[in-house]
Amino acid sequence: MNTTKDAIFERVMDRDPDQREFHQAVREVFETVRPVLDRNPAYRREAILERIVEPERVIVFRVPWADDQGQVQVNRGFRVEMNSALGPYKGGLRFHPSVNLDIMKFLAFEQVFKNALTTLAMGGGKGGADFNPKGRSDREVMRFCQAFMAELYRHIGPNTDIPAGDIGVGAREIGYLFGMYKKLANEFTGVLTGKSLAWGGSLIRPEATGYGAVYFAAEMLATRNDSIEGKTCLVSGSGNVAQYTAEKILDLNGRVVTLSDSSGYIYDEEGIDRDKLAFVKELKNIRRVRISEYAERYSQAVYREAEPDRLSNPLWDHPADCAFPCATENEINGSDAAHLIHNGVFLVCEGANMPSTPEAVDLFLDKALLYAPGKAANAGGVAVSGLEMAQNSMRLNWPREEVDHRLKLIMKSIHQTCLAAAAEYNTPGNYVAGANIAGFVKVVNAMLDQGLV
Ligand code: NDP
Repeated sequence: MNTTKDAIFERVMDRDPDQREFHQAVREVFETVRPVLDRNPAYRREAILERIVEPERVIVFRVPWADDQGQVQVNRGFRVEMNSALGPYKGGLRFHPSVNLDIMKFLAFEQVFKNALTTLAMGGGKGGADFNPKGRSDREVMRFCQAFMAELYRHIGPNTDIPAGDIGVGAREIGYLFGMYKKLANEFTGVLTGKSLAWGGSLIRPEATGYGAVYFAAEMLATRNDSIEGKTCLVSGSGNVAQYTAEKILDLNGRVVTLSDSSGYIYDEEGIDRDKLAFVKELKNIRRVRISEYAERYSQAVYREAEPDRLSNPLWDHPADCAFPCATENEINGSDAAHLIHNGVFLVCEGANMPSTPEAVDLFLDKALLYAPGKAANAGGVAVSGLEMAQNSMRLNWPREEVDHRLKLIMKSIHQTCLAAAAEYNTPGNYVAGANIAGFVKVVNAMLDQGLV
């Protein structure tokens, strides 16, 4: 058997030729861990690459439910339990029409390394369904969540697999999912994170991914004796991660000028201040409507509708210092990256998972931007999920300041870990290499310790 990295990657592609996002995630890791394999012959001997790309378990299931008209709807549910070398599977659930096995595997694969970087004992997994909550009533969302959990509950548990939220799964969905789990399992336990504060949630969990990404950006800036203060920032998305990224940028006296949703984006040259951000939260979390309403309320803001066939996204074509992509995968392509750099952006910090295409990443690295990949920069969410699990086990709640302090320390530690690994393997300042190498080494050493399982 040919055990070179390239031959193994060929096999990954041959096995599942349609899983392009998964291939993209695997390729990036393989490209950066070559020097680690060269230094550790045991990794090749023990077929570590072949093992790490293969999920430990994939669960695919039917989710039948009835809509408000009594019409039967059938969705497809997934849980990819990727790797449990460091702890029980941990990773979010995504409800979005684009969900398929490819997207689930890419997210689960990324999650393994991200969780390793947090220093907490968590393996990696991801799940979800091709259900679109948009336009559905609360009752329909509840019935869907109950039908989804009717199958998922037998595969998860507080010491087995602990899901959380992701795109389309927020506090409302976590509530319905938890309620159904509790009923079926007949136990009240910390089986999901992102729970409401009143029944087992952690303070700062809703804020954690966005806040953490900005803490990471602040650490990167500090390496150049700089800070967020006074920086103009482009933020994409307007969901959980985008909202709290914007909030923390404002806390640190930066300026946010864009937000978006899948219908389009707004550009507010005067800056999105706290009052305007509160309005966005109302639009998105309570009224669940489109970001275009922002431009109706604030007339100086410009709204531009999304044009899926465009070669580049105009959101990334405004003068700025920093960019925080917080919507979805592959939202910055090579041409967007060129626009960012041309407009003066020197820091890109990913709140979303894999929002930059390989061409964009190459450009960021080539031009020596401060560039943080999602698996490092957005790890704050899962880190505080880990803290929620710890609080659930102890049956107590830490105050807001304590959780925020721990989050800050974790993001600082991830930043240092990435820099140290990058320097050790002769790619100083390369956070992509640093994050992949540090996460990889931790996971594969645990796999070797635990034998062929
Ligand atoms: P939300 O559902 O709260 O928000 C997602 C936002 O992105 C919405 O504004 C949504 O617009 C937009 N969006 C989604 N899909 C697309 C698309 N195909 N094209 C354009 N815009 C799109 O999700 P989160 O904020 O939780 O997640 C955002 C990103 O952050 C994802 O990549 C997720 O995996 C990642 N992430 C999330 C974590 C968390 O704790 N929530 C943790 C780590 C990473 P619309 O409303 O129109 O769909």
